[in-house]
Amino acid sequence: MPRRRAVPSVQASRPGATSAVSRRILPPLFFLFMTIILGASAMVGGCGGRKKIDMPMATEPTQPAVSQPLPTAAEPSTRPAAGPLLVRVGLSTGVADLQLTATGDAFLLLDQMRRRETRVSGGATLALTRRGDGVAWRTGGQSGTAEVVVLQPVDPAYRVIAPDAERSGQPLALRGEVVVFPNRNGRGLTVVNVVELEAYLRGVVPWEIGRHGRDAVAALAAQAVAARTYTVSHLGAREALGFDLWAGIRDQVYRGAADEDPVCNDAIAGTAGQVLIHAGEPITAYYSSTCGGITSQIEEVWPRRPELYLVSHPDRPTDGGEVFCAGAKYFHWQESWSGKQLESILARTLPQYVKYMSNSERATWAGPAFSPHQRGDDPGRPGPLKGIAVVRLTRSGRVAQLDITTAAGIYHLRGDRVRWVLVPASGKPAILRSARFELTVEMAGDRVRRVTAHGGGYGHGVGLCQVGALQMARSGYGVEAILSHYYPGATLTSFTAGEGR
Ligand SMILES: [Zn+2]
Repeated sequence: MPRRRAVPSVQASRPGATSAVSRRILPPLFFLFMTIILGASAMVGGCGGRKKIDMPMATEPTQPAVSQPLPTAAEPSTRPAAGPLLVRVGLSTGVADLQLTATGDAFLLLDQMRRRETRVSGGATLALTRRGDGVAWRTGGQSGTAEVVVLQPVDPAYRVIAPDAERSGQPLALRGEVVVFPNRNGRGLTVVNVVELEAYLRGVVPWEIGRHGRDAVAALAAQAVAARTYTVSHLGAREALGFDLWAGIRDQVYRGAADEDPVCNDAIAGTAGQVLIHAGEPITAYYSSTCGGITSQIEEVWPRRPELYLVSHPDRPTDGGEVFCAGAKYFHWQESWSGKQLESILARTLPQYVKYMSNSERATWAGPAFSPHQRGDDPGRPGPLKGIAVVRLTRSGRVAQLDITTAAGIYHLRGDRVRWVLVPASGKPAILRSARFELTVEMAGDRVRRVTAHGGGYGHGVGLCQVGALQMARSGYGVEAILSHYYPGATLTSFTAGEGR
């Protein structure tokens, strides 16, 4: 019988605590079935585009969580191996109160035991607010308080409507069920959508890679595999908050069931259950919009260990030819600041950078963030801008070290975080498009008069390049060839749910 993952455990509510759920989920958890080595025949540059993936489904067709019988008691720790994988997507934390509705009848379940309290009619409002260590609920003439409140449609065709924290509380239609519990680290309520993995991906893929014609379906399929792999490798990663992934750019953009795309849905269905693994573990399948001609090496971007499948390589066929993402809107870009504009931006972003890099793991990786001119100079007050220069580049031509000299001292910036410091003067986009740029600096005496960045690409550049993948698909490459190009040495495999699902 398919199993659900437990709702968040209040016992694991201490920050940093790992619940029994995550302990069961995190170890190597995939029973590997049919695997395809992404070998030489599928490598880019061959003519083997449009190779058909022909792998048996490792699982029975999944049933949405809401169709399963309601547990009446805490589940035993030993579980059957098969079943749909449920993802806990964090919609918001710290919400003072909220209202949920469903498009059809739904069950109101309470507490860890998921005790069925009542049936909420379709369209009726379930009002929730924080009360002490619990959630006060009210619907129709009934009300009460519980440690966890779940709204679960009686039919998987119905949707729960919840406020979208990413878009000013506009209504968001969701598959699966919505779980609400007190914010583990502060005030208010945490709102989580518990949704089956494949249904979750329907709300992710079109927002991450966009909507495209059927000629690009292999790229959408590669995106689906990357997003699925990212998801399974991050299960439990936000356990301290009581869910797996955020519903926004901190993890993957997720907008529920409101505006799914039929081509993306086909790409997801065509790769159902498929993930990329390396050394028996799901890979960290990063992806970004436009690599600008060469992908990044993970350890030059973030303080992470090197990975064989995330090495820098040109985004072009191995036998030469045009760069796959050369037609991207932001293959080349330019940003310019007057000295005054940059000075006022840096007054805010340089202290933020120093604080961000003070975390010990980041500090070890990035080296000293600030060298004062004189003892006692405060990195929190940069003062007038005196100079800015790229000191070192990575092997992929991205900024390895950028030094910014101000009246207070020299700030040493490393890796992708430089994009959070050199913020565009217009505020759009919110951070610099990439760390792949050269600077032109005009001086007036000892002050900076104008700075211009000539850059390439959009995003961190690690892993799959979305615009490059789209071009590959349109040139006839299949999903395997695309994945082997961007994640060399990773293996495409189908999995079935392991213990803890
Ligand atoms: Zn690219």
